[in-house]
Amino acid sequence: MPSGTISHLKDLDYSVVQQCMHCGLCLPTCPTYVATKNERNSPRGRIALMRAIADGDLEVSRAFGEEMYFCLGCLACMSACPAGVNYAELFEHARAEVETAGVLGTPKRNLIRAFAIKWLFMDLRRLQLAGRALLLYQQLGLQTVLRTSGVLKLLPRRLRELEAITPKIQEHFSSDLIPPLLAATGQKRFRVAMLTGCAQDLIFSDINRDTVEVLARNGCEVLTPPEQHCCGSLHAHNGEWALAQDLARRNLDQFPPAAFDAIVTNAGGCGSHLKHYSHLLNDDAEYRERAALWDRKVKDIHEWLAEIGVRPPPTEQPIRIVTYHESCHLSHGQKVVNQPRQLLRAIPELQLVELPESSWCCGSAGVYNITQPEMAEELLERKLRHIGSTGANIVATGNPGCLLQLINGARVRGMQLKVVHPVSLLAEAYRANQGIPANV
Ligand code: SF4
Ligand code: SF4
Repeated sequence: MPSGTISHLKDLDYSVVQQCMHCGLCLPTCPTYVATKNERNSPRGRIALMRAIADGDLEVSRAFGEEMYFCLGCLACMSACPAGVNYAELFEHARAEVETAGVLGTPKRNLIRAFAIKWLFMDLRRLQLAGRALLLYQQLGLQTVLRTSGVLKLLPRRLRELEAITPKIQEHFSSDLIPPLLAATGQKRFRVAMLTGCAQDLIFSDINRDTVEVLARNGCEVLTPPEQHCCGSLHAHNGEWALAQDLARRNLDQFPPAAFDAIVTNAGGCGSHLKHYSHLLNDDAEYRERAALWDRKVKDIHEWLAEIGVRPPPTEQPIRIVTYHESCHLSHGQKVVNQPRQLLRAIPELQLVELPESSWCCGSAGVYNITQPEMAEELLERKLRHIGSTGANIVATGNPGCLLQLINGARVRGMQLKVVHPVSLLAEAYRANQGIPANV
């Protein structure tokens, strides 16, 4: 790395860099280590590499970069670690180090990153435009024609795989479904802001609608501005530290935390990042304090409902068996473990069956299923096998990446499996009381 260039790992607080005591207790919880049994693919091995770079004993190399991108960032190692190693912080700085050094740069990779991370996700109006183009392609039947005609077989394998996981774009985005201000049903108890997300807004806007509806039914007045910003987790997890800071500032400007009792997200991956804006803006005197208040106000929807108490829906539906897959960033990142189960148990007609290895990564991990398809597929297979063993025909999970991964996995395998967000099950249970049938 040229002298004078920022080194994210060398500049990182050394107490974070040297926390690991090499005990190895995290190894059996790390999906990449369990798959390969290579020390370098383990949390301990990766931390040793990061520390060697911070200490100046190792140069940032292509091999180091590839290792950092082979890591899922699932944070299972953090849950297992008795020493409290902050792997999340190390991981983000390590990837930023890789990008600053440019060791993985190729013209193709640089172009994709410039388009997706630095342009598309920096302004959600662009993303919505891309979403509408994709919707048109799907509505005109072009996707169906391509899939049934055999034309796709002519494409390179990688492109075929990417086409197969193209999400179904919703006809209506969140701003079409949710008013900017929704009054609480009955007595107002809280004022909250709702973050509609980026991909979530295009692919799962119905879940956003369900979330807002559930909030209102539980005494919340909900502010949902139609134009919002990406939370920046995509940027932080892919080494674009400055862009992540920029997006954090935009969110803080749009949602002054002092104006709300809570700032609610229903996406586990986003929430895990949103709760650490103070760490991201630690050196910014103008935003530091606001960011600290923001971190305290950001709540995952399950967490917030558990805090304020869920109004139980009446029993109107036949008993259905559901199992629950934990999003890594909801369970390991945010430690929101019991609340989603409480929410599901609050729905009288649901019978919750525990999923073996429920907090083991499904392979989605942001864009991991695109960048590391083999490992992602191995993890998906393992997850779907466990889901099948529960006998449930509904799996609930609180993160759009996991939802999409499981929907695609079940579709490709012809599994009769409904994949839903827990809050949608609750919204349906409330609606059933009004004679509107549940659609799962
Ligand atoms: S984040 Fe996940 S994949 Fe990466 S080292 Fe930790 S447990 Fe392993
Ligand atoms: S990360 Fe934690 S659990 Fe893993 S080796 Fe280091 S101290 Fe032990």
